[in-house]
Amino acid sequence: MTVATVEGYASLLEETLPRVRARITEAARAAGRDPSAVTLVGVTKGHPVEAVQAALAAGLHDLGENRVGELEGKRSALGPIPGRWHFIGHIQSRKAGRAVAASDVIHSIDSRKLAGKVARAAEEREEPMPVLVQVNTSGEEAKSGLEGERLVEELHEIAESPWLRVIGLMTMAPFVAEERVLAKTFGGLRALSERVRSVTEQVGPELSMGMTNDLEIAIREGSTMVRIGTALFGERGTA
Ligand SMILES: *Cc1c(COP(=O)(O)O)cnc(C)c1O
Repeated sequence: MTVATVEGYASLLEETLPRVRARITEAARAAGRDPSAVTLVGVTKGHPVEAVQAALAAGLHDLGENRVGELEGKRSALGPIPGRWHFIGHIQSRKAGRAVAASDVIHSIDSRKLAGKVARAAEEREEPMPVLVQVNTSGEEAKSGLEGERLVEELHEIAESPWLRVIGLMTMAPFVAEERVLAKTFGGLRALSERVRSVTEQVGPELSMGMTNDLEIAIREGSTMVRIGTALFGERGTA
């Protein structure tokens, strides 16, 4: 399949975008939720700028990337876009400033150290950065994110920075997991959000959870932002 042209991605999205939106609508309705409360973030990582152009033309205005260099490349090729760039990948501390400059919202604040670096970059440009704090709810060692006994305390510390606007929390589920495990992972993030928000106004209500394979369960458990790549743009190249 060669879809590496704007036309190719456009015809792919003609099929996939309504299908993904229908999955979101159906899952929200089944949970008694308003479908418009769930933002679809189209994850264009691993796809060329043509995918971004086709997505914007199709009305998908929230786009996600997970590598600073790749995002910068797409930004410089396209110029300002009529939409928002969501950064969803792990950020090395030394790239925090570049991530802040290139993103509209960062979903992947996965340590206090990174939070500090991002806050400093935001302070330098004198504009608070909208972020989500990533939580390792599954306990898998390979996953990044806040975890353990000091999690709530650390979350409070991060949220106290005047240069970070913590709009919510983010998590990733184990890649291969039974529905029960997924529900527990996502439900755990929602419970944490409720607990933290009952004692501070500095953490917002967004819950970034759900990908191609688990968006229904995530929405049932309260997701407000699903991050979808494969179901929209097809398989990614390995490069
Ligand atoms: C790649 C990625 C996604 C999208 O995954 P798909 O399974 O292709 O929908 C979502 N979130 C994060 C953090 C990712 O890295």
